[in-house]
Amino acid sequence: MAKKLQDTPMLDQLESGPWPSFITGLKRLANDGKEYSDMVVDLLGQLETSYQTKKGYWKGGTVGVIGYGGGVIPRFTELLDESKKPMFPAAAEFHTLRIMPPPGMHYDTATIRKFCDIWEQYGSGLIAFHGQSGDIMFQGCTTDNVQPAFDALNEMGFDLGGAGPAVRTGMSCVGAARCEHSCTDEGRAMRMLVNAFLDDMHRPALPYKFKFKVSGCGNDCMNSIQRADMSMIGTWRDDMKVDQGEFKNYVETKGRKWIVDNVITRCPTQALSLNEDDTLDVKNSDCVRCMHCINVLTKALSPGDDKGISILVGGKRTLKIGDLMGTVIVPFMKLDTDEDYEKLEELAGEMIDFFAENALEHERTGEMIERIGLINFLEGIGLDVDPNMVTQPRSNPYIRMDGWDEEAKKWFERKAG
Ligand code: SF4
Repeated sequence: MAKKLQDTPMLDQLESGPWPSFITGLKRLANDGKEYSDMVVDLLGQLETSYQTKKGYWKGGTVGVIGYGGGVIPRFTELLDESKKPMFPAAAEFHTLRIMPPPGMHYDTATIRKFCDIWEQYGSGLIAFHGQSGDIMFQGCTTDNVQPAFDALNEMGFDLGGAGPAVRTGMSCVGAARCEHSCTDEGRAMRMLVNAFLDDMHRPALPYKFKFKVSGCGNDCMNSIQRADMSMIGTWRDDMKVDQGEFKNYVETKGRKWIVDNVITRCPTQALSLNEDDTLDVKNSDCVRCMHCINVLTKALSPGDDKGISILVGGKRTLKIGDLMGTVIVPFMKLDTDEDYEKLEELAGEMIDFFAENALEHERTGEMIERIGLINFLEGIGLDVDPNMVTQPRSNPYIRMDGWDEEAKKWFERKAG
């Protein structure tokens, strides 16, 4: 007989706000009367206990599938009764399978339906698109069902993602498939990197995690600048394209004041000016490709034709040393030909090798660079110092050393005299 849902007064409160609640979803699964429902009933029981006692009751362990060293997040309950038996036995094992999404994270409905069928057969019915790691999270599986569930998903062409101290599941925005701002082939870049470093993803052997993310433009929909050890962001280096006719239409419909308030004065480098005749001037040498004006005046403005990517390294929120945004180490790189992609793969390989050899345990790339100095990192991966490298807007990571010796001599003379 199906288990009965116990009272969950604290969880019920999570359904009272204006937003859709995950508790409503869990209750639906619990009341489905299917095989997986008992597991969700007990999950809600354990969750309610957690909310009441303000304690978490999951512990890790070792669960995996044949041939892989990671990709499954084990969860065993620690909530036991007096006879040391699980208080909520149907959810005593509640493991998560991390499955890599396709680049851009878009699916057809047939695929999603099949996912649901597999997870209703082997798991709890609970799937999260997508976790912070980028993976599809198939949550709630017993130890015995992990292998058959993975086999079924693998049969569909999907593979486990990364977990633990490994190269993690890559992420790329939907990009050129649906977005007019896209400046590169995000899907190809991500797929190439995932294929090249699949071993490092499935067999955790690094000091800590290492993440790739690819965004097609400066809007950075993947938050790669903040959340990736190696971030690739699409950009352009020629002039942005301006359709003056469309711009005039904007001025006509929105008014000059609106354009000034919402576009011209919001350009971070004051690269824009509105002319008397309602046309737009762009000082392209000042533009930092932030995307603001293009986002607002989509029909009139668009990225230039000479497109490529910028590569940043060491972003992470939040590290032990505070938040770190990525540092630009390759200001512009074309990504058109096979050779360009090979160059990108080579650079990524250098970074991972250097990280593997030089990072301390539990240290991310950004922290390692802070500790050893950017210059040593660049030397290690074979990149020349370039004054266009950027630590944060309007500052680069270097100081001028010419004239250094003369200044030092003067300082010693002053001190002596
Ligand atoms: Fe200014 Fe950003 Fe537009 Fe460039 S993209 S002109 S920096 S608002």
